[in-house]
Amino acid sequence: GSRLVIADLCKSYRMGDQSVLTAADDVNLEIAPGTITAITGPSGSGKSTLLHLIGAIDRADSGRILVDDTDITGLRGNALADYRASVGFIFQQFHLVPSLTAFDNVLAPLVSRKTSFDRRSRAQELLAEVGLDGRERALPSHLSGGQQQRVAIARALVNSPGLILADEPTGNLDAANAAGILKLLRRLQEAYGTTILIATHDAAIASRADSIVTVRDGRTTVQAGD
Ligand code: ADP
Ligand code: ADP
Repeated sequence: GSRLVIADLCKSYRMGDQSVLTAADDVNLEIAPGTITAITGPSGSGKSTLLHLIGAIDRADSGRILVDDTDITGLRGNALADYRASVGFIFQQFHLVPSLTAFDNVLAPLVSRKTSFDRRSRAQELLAEVGLDGRERALPSHLSGGQQQRVAIARALVNSPGLILADEPTGNLDAANAAGILKLLRRLQEAYGTTILIATHDAAIASRADSIVTVRDGRTTVQAGD
C-alpha cells in the first residue's frame, strides 16, 4: 500500500460574507503503508476536506502531500487524472449508477488496455471477494444498503489501489452492516497491504483502526487504535 507524508497542509474556504473558514490548519501526518487510519471528529471539523485533499479532488492552499514520494499537490493534467484513478474512493451514499447492474457498476471505472474477458473476470472476482457472488445482475435498488456498499467497495478495488479513501462508509448502515463493512476493509488491508483511511463519526468503528486521527477545527492529533 501507499505511504503518506502530509506536511504543513492548509486549506481555507472563503465564505459568502468574505470571512474565511479554515478547514485544514497546518496538518502534519505520517501514515504507514498497509495500515487502517480512522479520521474522526465532530461534523464540520475537516474530515472530508482532508480526504478530498489526499484524493486530489480538492486543491490545498499550501503544504505537501507525499504519496509514495510523489507530491500530489503539484500534479496537473494527465498525471492528476492518473493519480485520482489510482485511488479507491468509497462514499457514505454509495454513489452507484442506479440503472447499471452490480457487475456493470464495478466495471465502470476500469480504464483499461485489458481485453474485455479480463475485465469481466476481474469484476466477477471482485464481487465474489466482497461476498456478492450470484448478485452480479442485481440493480442497486434490489440490494440492501450493506450490499450496495459492498458493490461500491468492489468498484473501488477495480484498479488495484494502493490507497483507499472512505468517507463515512458506514454512515447509512445499521450497526451489523457497519461492522461487516469494517471487517471487509480489514480483510482487504490484510490480503493486499492496502493503506486505508476512513473518515467516521462512529467511535466503535474508529476504535478498530490501527491509528486514529482526531480533527478539530482543521487541526489534527494522532493516537494509536485498540
Ligand atoms: P467534516 O467532514 O468533518 O464534516 P468538512 O471537511 O466537510 O468537515 O468541512 C469542514 C468545514 O469546511 C465545514 O465548516 C464546511 O462547511 C467547510 N467546507 C467544506 N467544503 C466547503 C466548500 N466547498 N466551500 C465552503 N466551505 C466548505
Ligand atoms: P504491482 O502493481 O506492483 O504489480 P499489485 O498490483 O500486486 O502490484 O498491487 C499494487 C497495490 O494494489 C497493492 O499495494 C495493493 O494495495 C493493491 N491491490 C492489488 N491487488 C488488489 C486486489 N485484488 N484488491 C485490492 N487491492 C489490490
